[in-house]
Amino acid sequence: MVIIESIDKMKNEITAYKEKGLSIGLVPTMGCLHAGHISLIKKAIEENDIVIVSIFVNPTQFGPNEDFDKYPRTRKKDLEICRTNSCDFVLLPQSDEMYPEDFLTFVEVKSLGKVLCGISRPTHFRGVTTILTKLFNITKATRAYFGQKDAQQLIIVKKMVEDLNMDIEIIGCSTVRENDGLALSSRNTYLNDEERKDGLLLYKSLTLAKNLILNGEKNIEVIKKEMENTINSGKNTSIDYIEIVNSKTLKPVSKVEDNILIALAVKVGNTRLIDNIFIDLREKAI
Ligand code: AMP
Repeated sequence: MVIIESIDKMKNEITAYKEKGLSIGLVPTMGCLHAGHISLIKKAIEENDIVIVSIFVNPTQFGPNEDFDKYPRTRKKDLEICRTNSCDFVLLPQSDEMYPEDFLTFVEVKSLGKVLCGISRPTHFRGVTTILTKLFNITKATRAYFGQKDAQQLIIVKKMVEDLNMDIEIIGCSTVRENDGLALSSRNTYLNDEERKDGLLLYKSLTLAKNLILNGEKNIEVIKKEMENTINSGKNTSIDYIEIVNSKTLKPVSKVEDNILIALAVKVGNTRLIDNIFIDLREKAI
């Protein structure tokens, strides 16, 4: 496994593989790797000749009062995980090389980035799409792997690739959960025992919504109210949003339809957690 910090070095390494016609899988991460990230790495290894994991806590996707400074940085353990999972390259970009003082360009997927998480995090998705565009250009990846855990991110990245004719395939991977249903997240490390218990209410409310829908409930307000009650039963929970939207357009639906995304963001203590489920009524729930 080769660890690379410089953009030019990454580009040079990749040229030889591209010339040989080999496929390159990219797994973009912010580190503090867990089983969710590992599931992406495993899929990338299965489907590509060469796999690059990038680890970069990207400053442009954090708002001014968010957790950029305290975001967990666990480089040694992350490198060990990449090594044991047979990654070929770990790209550790340097912030001043990614964003030099004269940096001026941003990539923005307009309306999709302004709903759901985009309401309380108005500059988040343009930071995400900008860094991903840079990583796609640097690695010339054939495929890039993303978790459905960040459903809005996945939908936005797919739209960016389509709109800008980027030569890369975006692969979505299922959310990996703890046995009790809590979606794995690097931010779970912020939770104390009591908060972690309240964290379970996110998936509990999503499961409740799924069951209501599978039992024929079509009324969005009824479903949202039940979810809200579940979340509010926690001592440390405060709802940012609960939304039921079309899974492509992210527009709210007025009644349950074929392809929907149920998404929520909840503050548990000081930690903002997100979770979601996709429901395709033609295939039943995912
Ligand atoms: P992050 O390091 O949080 O930026 O996440 C990097 C990638 O891992 C993103 O594509 C996430 O959607 C994905 N990811 C994070 N948590 C999970 C999870 N629990 N299951 C599957 N993928 C995940």
